[in-house]
Amino acid sequence: MMWEAVVGLEIHAQLATRSKIFSGAPAAAGAEPNRQACAIDLALPGVLPVLNAEVLRMAVMFGLATNAEIASRSVFARKNYFYPDLPKGYQISQYELPVVKRGVVEIALDDGPTKRIGIARAHLEEDAGKSVHDAFPGETGVDLNRAGVPLLEIVSEPDMNSAGEAMAYMRTIHSLVRYLGICDGNMEAGSFRCDANVSVRRSGETALGTRTEIKNLNSFRFVGRAITYEIERQIETLAGNGTVVQETRLYDAVADETRAMRDKEEANDYRYFPDPDLLPVELSPEYIERIRAELPELPDVKRQRFRSEYALGENDARRLTAIREIADYFEAVANASRQPRLAANWVTGDLAAALHRANIEITHSPVGPEELATLIVRIADGTLSGKMAKEVFESVWRREGDPDSVIAKRGLVQISNPAAIEDFVDQIIAAHPEQVEQFRTGKEKVFGFFVGQVMKLTRGQANPEQVNQALRRKL
Ligand code: ADP
Ligand code: MG
Repeated sequence: MMWEAVVGLEIHAQLATRSKIFSGAPAAAGAEPNRQACAIDLALPGVLPVLNAEVLRMAVMFGLATNAEIASRSVFARKNYFYPDLPKGYQISQYELPVVKRGVVEIALDDGPTKRIGIARAHLEEDAGKSVHDAFPGETGVDLNRAGVPLLEIVSEPDMNSAGEAMAYMRTIHSLVRYLGICDGNMEAGSFRCDANVSVRRSGETALGTRTEIKNLNSFRFVGRAITYEIERQIETLAGNGTVVQETRLYDAVADETRAMRDKEEANDYRYFPDPDLLPVELSPEYIERIRAELPELPDVKRQRFRSEYALGENDARRLTAIREIADYFEAVANASRQPRLAANWVTGDLAAALHRANIEITHSPVGPEELATLIVRIADGTLSGKMAKEVFESVWRREGDPDSVIAKRGLVQISNPAAIEDFVDQIIAAHPEQVEQFRTGKEKVFGFFVGQVMKLTRGQANPEQVNQALRRKL
């Protein structure tokens, strides 16, 4: 029996506003508990929420960037439930009339093909506070700093069919919200997280199977592993003539499994109704067009441009455009050095590896784009061999100076003068008559020995290609 998995994701992106969605309290994380919760966030009697215009602008940006419909009229509703971190007794969220509907993104799969994934809707809502279990022994505290922090909930169509596709989709949305500057994308801090809905059905069947929802996944890896586990579990259940129960599950990263939550939320009736404290949001075409005009260049367009403007292959272009800061860095290096090929190799190769090892972001790279450009110019003009360039890169990384001063200080100049190279080659040939004899009687392998000797004599500074040519001629 063949099975097909079906996956839909609900992504929560925390919007990068200074203040909260319905109050003027700061939205930034990290403050002492309850220092950033004002009367509105605390739901004191008589207060009224006022919509932060910035969250609308951000939601519209997202909608335009995903070719979605922007609703000319959207409505905030109350989602009623009781929980200690929700002092109002309801969460304000868009329900029947969200601001963004029917978008689409294209994801790239590992082996090359792309796939379109539908976005059913993206709606605005407020985050809740937090229960704190480790501050007071035997008691639970409530921190309302997060209450009222703006979220954009992005709900996909059930268009994905594997854990890999779900991860690729999540990466695509992550890249997009960071390009747009509407979310910092910090998954460890929870500013970008998702719930994964998973079902399986027999191949060829058109009706959807019963789904489970895995809550609160906050890394790409966990999304992948949780979905993989859940697909296997459901197939095993159905193959054994069992039934999948529609329920909410949690992913336990340590055990690498999902488990049913013992959770009363299941039976909830949220009694949604339009919030009488907030007016419907009406957006004019002019407002929407103004935001469209302010959109930055988006990843797909940038990738196409990199391919044509810098003659890059699809894979390099994709790697260089996934993160806006990396794309900017690459362009600065490519334009200053006029060597886009080398720039792409260095940014995706040595630089990426060094950043990864040191666990730092490209914006904090100790080797800046101008310095990398200088280094690349010195490779292109023959001053440095590839090997020397790596040495200079390491020195600049350790902040021992800019590339040219490191080259001067270490006397790291490639020898490309043909006469000088011939001279070295002659010396080596004269010093090893035995090996010359071996080579001339057909022992090709000895050639490498000669190259090595010349490089040793010149402390690695001879241009290897010229050394090869001179040796071929003379031997
Ligand atoms: P709810 O209102 O319960 O959250 P939605 O209909 O809004 O349900 O769907 C939530 C998410 O679940 C969406 O991303 C949707 O694509 C996905 N989904 C719905 N049905 C299924 C299914 N049978 N299998 C997998 N995903 C599903
Ligand atoms: Mg849901």
